[in-house]
Amino acid sequence: MDYFLTETQKEVRDLARRFAQEKMKPVRAELDRTGEFPHALMQELGELGLMGVYIPEEYGGLGGGIVEMSLVVEELCRVDGAAGLCYAACALGASPIICGGSEEQKRRWLPRLAAGELAAFAITEAGAGSDSSNVKTRARREGDFYVLNGAKQFITNGSVAKIYTVIASTNPARGARGLSAFIVEDGTPGLTFGKIEDKMGIRCSKTAELVFQDCRVPAENLIGGKEGHGFVHTMRTFDRTRPGVAAQALGIAAGALDEALEYAKSRIQFDAPIASFQAVQTMLADMAIAVEASRTLTYQAARTVDIGAKNLSAVASMAKVLASDTAMKVTTDAVQIFGGYGYMRDYPVEKMMRDAKITQIYEGTNQIQRLIIASELIKGTAW
Ligand SMILES: Cc1cc2nc3c(=O)[nH]c(=O)nc-3n(C[C@H](O)[C@H](O)[C@H](O)COP(=O)(O)OP(=O)(O)OC[C@H]3O[C@@H](n4cnc5c(N)ncnc54)[C@H](O)[C@@H]3O)c2cc1C
Repeated sequence: MDYFLTETQKEVRDLARRFAQEKMKPVRAELDRTGEFPHALMQELGELGLMGVYIPEEYGGLGGGIVEMSLVVEELCRVDGAAGLCYAACALGASPIICGGSEEQKRRWLPRLAAGELAAFAITEAGAGSDSSNVKTRARREGDFYVLNGAKQFITNGSVAKIYTVIASTNPARGARGLSAFIVEDGTPGLTFGKIEDKMGIRCSKTAELVFQDCRVPAENLIGGKEGHGFVHTMRTFDRTRPGVAAQALGIAAGALDEALEYAKSRIQFDAPIASFQAVQTMLADMAIAVEASRTLTYQAARTVDIGAKNLSAVASMAKVLASDTAMKVTTDAVQIFGGYGYMRDYPVEKMMRDAKITQIYEGTNQIQRLIIASELIKGTAW
């Protein structure tokens, strides 16, 4: 299958594929069991230059875009959706700086991210989930600082990231228009980490509560230098990174298909490999069709972002929905093809099924994505 990738994109994909096979596969089950954050893997990804594939060259990156980021995420998640997420969440954290940061902010923070420092993005709060603009964390201007108070929850890479992009309200009376985006560095006095979640899947990724108590952030860390642009930065970020969530889901689905295919060829029942039974063959065929459809739409969404298209919300959401629903279905079918063994921790597909579920939930649930798609259709801006 030709995906019309450039030579550089193929090199990036192949490098990520080799890394995933050689470095991630041997440790994925243990990372899932212990829930330990994969610091060593992230450091190696930084050394290989893969942490900076989507960061412009002038800021120390490889100069690729969302296509390159998605290719890396897909390959990592094809082996381990959890460690792949640790990588993908850095792109989420970096995105508000890439698309909304001032020149000075880009020069200051992007080279560090390109070199492998971990990032995170924080908007969600107890009362601001799907209703993401209902942010209560407050940022009050005091001289050359903003003082942040409040709490964020469910933040991927929380407690391990060095750089957080945080959405807080500078003007509660203005609702979504009163939100602003800040860069908050780990170690800033007043930033602490609360509950670290115990999760069904993606277990080696850290999901943490961020607590801000009179946390003084220099005013120059206000992204783009303007108050009231936080929600716009968030929406632009999600449009750019939803293909990345799609790529994560696609990777998990493709990995489950790889495993199911191999198993079906080697498992003997009734004196024949189970791959010779038509009931199993049609399952494999349907899994492959869904994976390829997800890949096509995911790459299309990523390319739409990279060419700077104006109307990209619908295609980004479509890719996220299709790939994540596919990941759930394909991983469940992979467990089915493994039979009783699929249900056991000794085989990788039950982990893939647990890892897949979250892709239907975060960065906007699939219900919310469908609302976005419908709204773009009705406005006439879906294509
Ligand atoms: C493991 C994990 C990692 C995460 N990482 C991050 C992160 O890095 N940064 C960050 O900021 N956030 C993160 N999140 C938060 C995530 O984006 C939210 O959990 C998600 O957007 C849903 O919000 P909620 O959990 O409050 O669910 P709710 O909003 O309470 O939704 C509950 C249910 O109601 C449905 N629903 C809600 N409103 C509507 C509506 N209007 N129409 C139809 N259905 C609706 C939803 O689809 C869902 O099925 C993470 C979450 C998890 C679980």
